[in-house]
Formats: sequence, C-alpha cells, structure tokens
Amino acid sequence: MASKLLLTFAICRLITTVGLTMDPMELLSLGVDGQLSVDPFDLQNASVDFGLLSRAEPIVVFHPASSDDVARLVRTAYESDHGLTVSARGHGHSINGQAHTKNGIVIQMSGSRGSHLGSGKPAQPRVSVREMYVDVWGGELWIDVLKVSLQHGLAPLSWTDYLYLSVGGTLSNAGISGQAFNHGPQITNVNELDVVTGKGELLTCSKEQNSQLFHAVLGGLGQFGIITRARIALEPAPQMVRWIRVLYSSFTAFTRDQEYLISLQGSQKFDYVEGFVIVDEALVNNWRSSFFSPRNPVKITSLSADGGVLYCLEITKNYDQSSADTIDQIVETLLEKLDFIPTSLFTTDLPYVEFLDRVHKAELKLRSKGLWDVPHPWLNLFVPKSRIADFDKGVFKGILSNKTSGPILIYPMNKNKWDNRSSVVTPDEDVFYLVAFLRSALDTGDETQTLEYLTNQNSQILRFCDKAGIEMKQYLPHYNTREEWVDHFGDKWSQFYQRKMEFDPKYILATGQRIFRPSF
Ligand code: FAD
Repeated sequence: MASKLLLTFAICRLITTVGLTMDPMELLSLGVDGQLSVDPFDLQNASVDFGLLSRAEPIVVFHPASSDDVARLVRTAYESDHGLTVSARGHGHSINGQAHTKNGIVIQMSGSRGSHLGSGKPAQPRVSVREMYVDVWGGELWIDVLKVSLQHGLAPLSWTDYLYLSVGGTLSNAGISGQAFNHGPQITNVNELDVVTGKGELLTCSKEQNSQLFHAVLGGLGQFGIITRARIALEPAPQMVRWIRVLYSSFTAFTRDQEYLISLQGSQKFDYVEGFVIVDEALVNNWRSSFFSPRNPVKITSLSADGGVLYCLEITKNYDQSSADTIDQIVETLLEKLDFIPTSLFTTDLPYVEFLDRVHKAELKLRSKGLWDVPHPWLNLFVPKSRIADFDKGVFKGILSNKTSGPILIYPMNKNKWDNRSSVVTPDEDVFYLVAFLRSALDTGDETQTLEYLTNQNSQILRFCDKAGIEMKQYLPHYNTREEWVDHFGDKWSQFYQRKMEFDPKYILATGQRIFRPSF
C-alpha cells in the first residue's frame, strides 16, 4: 500500500514536472505484470552509467515482465500526449548518459526478465540446435547467452571484449571485438528481432519481414524501438584458445600485419585479431594486458620503441581436442609471415569461455582496488585505413606525449562484413580501424589523470582529426547538437530521420542520446 502511494506521488510529480495533465491512475492501471518502481535504489541506479560523467534521474523505473508489458507502457506514453519519455536501459554501460531520461521512465531491461519472451514464449534463452540460433530477451547479458548456448555445445560468432553488456545495448551500437573482421559485428549476426516501436507496437522483424525496422534498430542507438527479443546466430563452440601477443616497434609493420591477417580467406587464419598501443610502460600491466607474465622472455623496456611507442598485436586461434595435435603447426605457419620483434612472443592456452570472459577477471581486480567505479571519459573512433598512419603520428606519438590513463585498442575490420542497411555509420573505406581510448580518471594528484585533463585531450584528438581532414566516425557516438549528429550520419541522415518519423514520430525513445528532442 505504502509503495503504491509512493508511486502515485511519483507519477503526480512526473506530471507536475513536465507541466502536463495526466491522471496518475492511467499509469497505475496499465495492467502490466511488471513493476513500476520509485525505490531510491532503482532511481539512483538508473540515474548513472559506467561513464559516471552525467546524472539524470527518471521519475519511475519500470521492470517489465514481458514484451507485452514494454509495449503497453510505450503505447501509454505515445497515446496520452503527456510528454512522457521512455528509455530502455540494458546494463547501463554507456559513457555519456545514453540510457538516461530525465523526468521520464526508464525501462530496466537487464535483470528484469519476466515470465514471457514475447507472447507465449518462455523467458529463458531458447536454443535451436538444428537451426543454430538462440532466442534471448533484449535485456539478457551476453555472459548468460554464452552460458546457455554452451550447454548445447554452441556459441555466438561475434563478441564484445566484455560480456556484462546487454544484447539490446550492444545491438543498438554494433557490438565489436576481434572476431568482427571475420564475422562482422554482432549486428551482422542477428536473424530476427521483436521490437516495440515508439508507437507501442510490438513487431517481429528480420531481413524479410518488416525489414525497414530491422535495419533501423540495428546500430540505431535505441531511436526506433526497444528490442525485447533477439535471435542470435550460433556456431559450434571451440573448446580451447591459443592466445598470442607479439610486439612491434614499427607502426608500419604492425598495421601491415594486422591488415594482412584480416585479409586472409578460408580456414587458415586467426579467429581473433586485435591490438593495442603502449605509450606508457606502466600500462603494460593494466587491466587488459595482465597477460604479460613474469616469465616474459624479454623486458619491454629493452625493446627499442618507435618514438617511444610500442604496438602489441593480439591474436587467437581456436581449437579443440581433435585439432590439438596440429595447433602448434598451424600457428607457427601463420606467425611465419609476420614481422614482429622476434623475441617478443607471448603465448598462453586457455578454455574458450575464459578467453571470452577475460575482461571480467580484470574488472574484479579493479573493483577490489576501488578503481572500477570511477569516471570513464572514453573515446572510440573508427579511423579509415588510409589515414591511420597520420593518426599514429599526430595522436599516439603526438598528443598523448607518453601519457594515457587506460588501454588504447587498435584493430582493423573489413567493411564488407557490415550491412550498409543498418543505422550504424562507418568510414567510407574497405578497411577501417577501431581506435579506443579506454580511460579512467583518477584522483591521484597527477594532473594528467584528472577528468578535466583527459576530457580536454579527447577534444584535442577530435580537433586534430578535423584539422587533418581525417574522416573518422565516432563509435558509441556522443554529440550535443543536431548539426553534429547530421554531420555524423552524413549520407545516412535523411534515412535515419525518415525512420525516426516512421517508428518514433513523437521522439519518445532514448532521449539520452540527444539526437531528437521530444515533440510535445
Ligand atoms: P545501456 O548503456 O544500458 O544502453 C545503451 C543504449 O542502448 C541506450 O541508448 C539505451 O536506451 C539503448 N538500449 C538499451 N537496451 C536496449 C534495448 N533492449 N532495445 C533498444 N535500445 C536499447 N562495445 C563494443 O562494441 N565492444 C566492446 O568490446 C565493448 N567493451 C566494453 C567494455 C566495457 C567495460 C564497457 C563499459 C563498454 C563496452 N562496450 C563495448 C560498449 C557497449 O557495447 C555499449 O556501451 C553498450 O550500449 C552497453 O550495453 P548496455 O546494456 O550497458 O547498454
């Protein structure tokens, strides 16, 4: 009873805040099976994200029990003309408040799986071994998708480096890791979706059915609908991984080898190709690179670095018992073609799941030191292959000046593995690089680790690209003005806009992206 009163109060507050007239009972009598919550814990949780750079408190948090619940809530917001905005929140691992909505309703998708996966469908992930797919709730975390798939000896093909992200959250961006060069991003590996549009319609879509909606939602930054179910393609899961790191002091040799590796066809290739930049020796043992063990054959400091910068190529080859005898030979043959520093080969073997879940291990370590819940001014860019050397000179060897506050990932991908019909934008070249500055701002007294310093440095990097005419695209983009968004989408803007008008004409959804302002 008390919680109902509290909720009525909150809804009244919501109506007063947005200055509109709505009968609170309208929300209370939605007839949903899920829970509308004003619990301070829920509100606080929905007000922040991994970035810890901004805060926006919703009035109510909704824990849906089914796709129908999501549809009912969105339909109410759409039909009642009360200025209600609705943001799906997966695991809240955005950087810049993308899943926030101030004075609106957050639908907490992760951890809220209810009793139904769409009408009449079970909520638990459901694997079809014969057709090699898994149906999952949009708020499901990838770690759980992996666990369920593995029970059938299967696994998704394309990953993110970190698995505690929701399916709906990564599909709204792209979902990339070292497998993307081969299988494409996660959005390339989805067969079908259930989506609640901004009008509150629950639609099934795929390349064949409601295809406009399907392509719009993939990489669509939550602008066109809320993914309540995704059908994800699976492959037989490998058992083991040979995980290899080699170092380069020459950027030219490093990128030449990365580009060569992602161009290989057939089965004689690595399964995962990533890399990172080492501008600061302290970072050799950071959270992504703890892999360099005390048994290192060489001391990193003994390697002559090109302008003080080293580059690490990170590659893996999957295998299982039947291929264990040949893995050494296969890897050796592949490595023979590469031009890394000969004494810098680091190798380890581990189960496939441990490899995929590697960042979580590091997360636990950082959490224990109080270094996880800190501000993260991350910057992720897609840089065209033709300008990556200029980027190296200007940024890694220039702007960063031997200091950074977190890993810097760099790896190339093949554009032909990306479906141009999706909403995501990438540079206009066959090969482009992800460059990810994964920074943590710390209060250590070192000026170069402060949030202000790192944020300024991000701006400097963006200005450098602009001035040098490097036509990069932001990944996990963050802009504040319409002009910047139009520029970001380029040729795709008019399609993006038309899709918005069709699927969320009142601009109710995912306002935290700051692309469209609600039109009430
Ligand atoms: P949220 O932050 O909750 O939401 C993100 C956006 O998606 C919001 O606009 C939200 O409204 C929308 N949204 C959420 N759920 C749905 C849904 N069901 N339907 C429609 N829209 C929805 N990305 C990579 O590609 N590769 C990586 O390797 C990678 N590693 C990461 C590691 C860490 C530690 C972190 C913090 C992030 C990483 N990311 C990576 C970025 C990550 O993929 C995105 O930030 C993603 O959006 C996070 O998912 P989430 O569930 O936390 O989404």
